[in-house]
Amino acid sequence: MLKKVLIANRGEIAVRIIRACRELGIKTVAVYSTADQHALHAKIADEAVCIGPPKSKDSYLNMREIIAACELTGADAIHPGFGFLSENAHFARTCQKCGITFIGPLPESIEMLGDKATAKETMKKAGVPVILGSEGAIKTLGEAKALAKEIGYPVLVKASAGGGGRGIRQVRSEDELEAQMTAAKQEALACFGNDEVYIEKFIENPKHIEIQILADNFGNVIYLGERDCSMQRRNQKVLEETPSPVMTDELRRKMGESAVAAAKVCGYRNAGTIEFLVDKHLNYYFMEMNTRIQVEHPITEEVTGVDLVKQQLLIAGGEPLSIKQEDIKIQGHAIECRINAENPEMNFLPSPGVIKSLYVPGGPGIRIDSACYQGFEITPYYDSMIAKLIVHASDRETAIAKMRWALSEFIVDGVSTNIDFHLRLIRREEFLRGDYDNGFLGRTDILK
Ligand code: ADP
Ligand code: ADP
Ligand code: MG
Repeated sequence: MLKKVLIANRGEIAVRIIRACRELGIKTVAVYSTADQHALHAKIADEAVCIGPPKSKDSYLNMREIIAACELTGADAIHPGFGFLSENAHFARTCQKCGITFIGPLPESIEMLGDKATAKETMKKAGVPVILGSEGAIKTLGEAKALAKEIGYPVLVKASAGGGGRGIRQVRSEDELEAQMTAAKQEALACFGNDEVYIEKFIENPKHIEIQILADNFGNVIYLGERDCSMQRRNQKVLEETPSPVMTDELRRKMGESAVAAAKVCGYRNAGTIEFLVDKHLNYYFMEMNTRIQVEHPITEEVTGVDLVKQQLLIAGGEPLSIKQEDIKIQGHAIECRINAENPEMNFLPSPGVIKSLYVPGGPGIRIDSACYQGFEITPYYDSMIAKLIVHASDRETAIAKMRWALSEFIVDGVSTNIDFHLRLIRREEFLRGDYDNGFLGRTDILK
C-alpha cells in the first residue's frame, strides 16, 4: 500500500485527493506556487512544499521541482489530478525512473492514447466504432482536401495532442479548409507544442456520452455507467448528468463493453474515461480516452457508491479490484454544475478577486467539491472553476428540483459567477425534457 502521496495539482481536485488519502491512512504532501500560499490544499495536507512562481509552467508543470519535492518529503507516489501533468507520458516515465509510483496508467498507454489520431486507429482494430476520418495525422493541404471531399463537409480539423476543447476547428466547405487548418495548427502548437492535426466527419447535433472505467494491474476492467456531458460551451463542459436521458440498458451495456475493450487493447491501468459521440439514431463512436480522473467524476460516485479516487489509490498500491461488474448498480440520478468565477454577461470573462463572503448549500443529496473559503483570493493564473455542485436524488426530476434550490441558496460575493446562468439553464424546457445535444448552448441564448 502507498504510504505518502504527493499531489501535483491544486484547487478542488487536490483537496479531493487529500481527503481520499486521509481516509485510507495515507500521508499527503501538497505542492503550491507562490500565488497559492494561502490555498486550501496547501493548508490541509500533512506537508506542503513551494515549487515556484505563479505561472503554471514554473510551478505546477515544473517536473524537476515536483520530483525534488517528492524526494525531499519521502513521498512514494504522485497523484497528478486532472489538467497540468496528468496526461504527460514523459512525466509518468520520469516518476517511474525515480522509483515513484505515478497514480495513473503506464507511460506507454498515455502515449498511445494521448495522440488522438493514433488512438483512433488502435480502437478501430479493437472493434470499437470510430468517427469516419483520416487514418492518423494529415500531412498536407492536398491530402486534407481529398479526404474532406471523400467524407463530405462539414468536417472537423482536430489537434492530435488536443485537450480542454482547444485545437478544434469546424470546416463547412473547401474554401475554408486552408484557413481553419492553419488556425487549428497554430492553436495546437501554442497549447500543446505539437501542430499535428487529423480530420474527422462533423457529426450533427451529437450527444457527448462518456464511460468511466476502472482497471487494476492484473487485467481486470469494469465500467461504471455513463456521464452525459452534452451541455457544452465552446467544446467545454458546463453541466453533467448521469444517467443520460437518452440511455437505455442495452446501449449502456454495449458502450460499456466497448469501453472495456478500449481499455484492454492498450493495457490500461487505473481510472480512465472513454468519450463517445452518440448520434440521434443512438449510434456511438469513440472520440478519445482521457487517461486520468475527470472533473465530473463525482456524479458517477453518487450513483454507484464507488469512491473513484480511493480506487485509484488502491489500484496504484497494487491491490486487485474488489468490485466486480455485477456489483455496479446505478441508483438514482446525479447532476453536477461547474461553478466558475466568470461573468456570463461579458462573454464568460474570468473574474478573479477576493471572495468576500461565501455560503454553500447543504442537506441530503448535496455535495460541494471546492477549495474556496471566505477571504480566499482567486488569482488570474489558473482556471476559473471554483466549485462543483453535485446533487443526487432518486430520479431526474427530483435531482433537478434539488439543484434548483441548491443553486439559489449558493452565495459567492466578491467575484462574478455563473450560478445564475446555471439556474436559468436548468429551468429551460429543453433541459427539463432531457432534450439537448452538444450544440444546444451554442444556439441558445440562456441569458435572454
Ligand atoms: P474533463 O473531461 O475532466 O471535464 P476537461 O477537458 O474539462 O476535462 O479538462 C479538465 C481540466 O484539465 C481543465 O482545467 C482543462 O483546462 C485542463 N486540460 C484538459 N486537457 C488539457 C491539456 N491537454 N493540457 C492542459 N490542460 C488540459
Ligand atoms: P478534447 O480533447 O479537447 O476534449 P474531444 O475530441 O474530446 O476534444 O472533443 C471535444 C468536444 O468537441 C466534444 O465533446 C464534442 O462536443 C466536440 N466534437 C469533437 N469531435 C466531434 C465530431 N467529430 N463531431 C461533432 N462534434 C465533435
Ligand atoms: Mg474530450
